[in-house]
Amino acid sequence: MLNQIKDTSSITLFGICPSCGANTEFSLLGIQRWPERVAKKAGLPLEQSLWQCCNCDTTLMDASLGADIKPQSSES
Ligand SMILES: [Zn+2]
Repeated sequence: MLNQIKDTSSITLFGICPSCGANTEFSLLGIQRWPERVAKKAGLPLEQSLWQCCNCDTTLMDASLGADIKPQSSES
């Protein structure tokens, strides 16, 4: 799972960017962790993945990525 990630540079998602609309890759910038009471107050999950669009360099949170975004699979 995401909380076990050690090397984030090799992790990408593939899909439509909600910012630029391109069908592109997203690289994992890191995991953002909130203090529990901050997360509850804001209605946010305790941990969120931060992704960067490879096309427009926009940083996106998990919640910003649509359901169409999929982990890139190496299977043929
Ligand atoms: Zn983009």
